[in-house]
Amino acid sequence: MKGRSKILAVVLVLAALCGVRSRAPAWSVSEEIRLGRRFELQARARLPLVSDVEVLEYVNRIGGRIVSTLGAQPIPYRFYVTRDPRVNAFAVPGGVIYVNAGLLLRASSDDEVAGVLGHEIAHIHAHHLARQQEATQILNYTSLLGMLLSAVQPAVTAGAIALQAAAQLQYQREFEQEADYQGARFMREAGFDPRGMLNFFRKLLDDQRAGPAAATPYLLSHPLTEVRLSNLEALLRDHGWERETPHNASLPLARVQVRLATLLEPASDVVERYRRRAMEKPEDATQQYLLGLALLFTGQPDLADRAFERARTLGLQGTEREIGRAWLARRDPAKAAEWLRQAVQRDANDAVARYVLAQALRALGDEAAAEEELDRAIALVPNFEEAVQTLGTLAGRRGEEAKGLYFLGKAAYLRGDLDQALSYWERALPLLPDGSDRHAEVRESLAELRALRR
Ligand SMILES: [Zn+2]
Repeated sequence: MKGRSKILAVVLVLAALCGVRSRAPAWSVSEEIRLGRRFELQARARLPLVSDVEVLEYVNRIGGRIVSTLGAQPIPYRFYVTRDPRVNAFAVPGGVIYVNAGLLLRASSDDEVAGVLGHEIAHIHAHHLARQQEATQILNYTSLLGMLLSAVQPAVTAGAIALQAAAQLQYQREFEQEADYQGARFMREAGFDPRGMLNFFRKLLDDQRAGPAAATPYLLSHPLTEVRLSNLEALLRDHGWERETPHNASLPLARVQVRLATLLEPASDVVERYRRRAMEKPEDATQQYLLGLALLFTGQPDLADRAFERARTLGLQGTEREIGRAWLARRDPAKAAEWLRQAVQRDANDAVARYVLAQALRALGDEAAAEEELDRAIALVPNFEEAVQTLGTLAGRRGEEAKGLYFLGKAAYLRGDLDQALSYWERALPLLPDGSDRHAEVRESLAELRALRR
C-alpha cells in the first residue's frame, strides 16, 4: 500500500512537471502494435513507398542505432520512406515510422535525420498518440487508420479533411516538448550530435515563414514554435551537449540524396546537376563520387566507373562497393564480386554491399553463397521486400521448403498481398519446427491475417 502511494506520488509529480494530465492511454501496448501492423498493411497499398535498398538501408541504420539505445522493449520499430517531395515524418503507434523523400532531401547531415527520427521514436516510445486520445472518444480502427494515412500523406484524401485529420492528430505541446527532450537524449546516446535536431527544426521554421504550410506537412502534425526551439536550445546548453564537436560524416546522406533525386526528377537533370558540381570542384573526391552515383543510378555504368576511379585517385576511401556495382551493371559479375567482397570486409554491416554481392553471386551460379549474403542483408534491413522475395525463391529451389515458404510469405506480406501471404504461411506452418521463433511468428501472423479478412 505504502509502495503504491509512493509510486502514485511520483507519477503525479511527473505528470505535473510535464504539464500533462495523467490519463490512461486509450490503447494497450499490444493494441498499439496491432494498430501499427494494420496501418503498415494499408499503407503499402495506398502510400507510394521507396523500395530502393540504398534508401531503406539508410533510414533503418540511423533509426536502428537510436532504437538500440532503448534496450529491450516490446515495440518492433520499422522505418519507411515515402516517394513524396514534401517535408514530412510521422510515427504510427506500434513502431512504424514514415519519412518523406522530401525530408531526406532537405536535411544536410546524418545528425539532422537522426534528430527527426529520434523525435518520432520518442513519440512512439512514450505512447503519445494513445495518451492524448480521450478514452471516451476512441475512434474506430477504420477512421483512425484513415486519419493516420492522411497525416502521413495529406494528399491521399481531400485537402480540408486532411487538414482536419492532421489537426486532430496534432501532438499536444507538452508531448512535442517531451519528444524533443527524449529524442535528443536517445540520439546522443546513439552517437549523433543533438544539435542536428535543433538545426533541422530551425530550418523548418524558416521554411514555414517563407512559404505555404502545404509544402511542409510535418508542421501540421508537429506544431513548431519559437518557444519550442528555445527550450530545445536551453536543453542542449544545460546538458553541455552543444559544445561537442560534430563527428558524423554525412556521405551516406549525400549518397541517399542522389538516389532519391534520380527517383523524383528526370535523369538528365540529376546528372547535369552533379556534373556541374564536380566540374566546379575538380579536386573534390566526394563530388566525383556523387557524380559517379548519379551516372550509375541513371544507367551509365561506364561513365560512373570512371568517376569512381577519379574519386579513388583523389583519395576517397570506401569506393569498393560502388565500383563493384558498376561492374555488375556492366555484366561482369566476377569482377563485381571481387570488389563487393572487399566492401563487405570493410563494413560487415553494409546491407547494400551484401545485397549487390548476392546478385553477383547469383549471376555466377553460386546460389548457396548468394543466399548467405541475403540472410545477412535481411537481418540488417528486415523490410526490404526484394531481398526477402529472392531469398524465399533461392531457399525453395534448394529444397528448403519451410524457409522458402516462410520468406515468400513474408515478401507477399511486405507487398501488402495478404491472400498470397496467407497461402504461403499456411503451407509453411506445419513444416516449421514446433517451438521455433519462426513457427511462433507465422502462427501469430496467420491469426492476424485471418482476423483482418473477417
Ligand atoms: Zn512531434
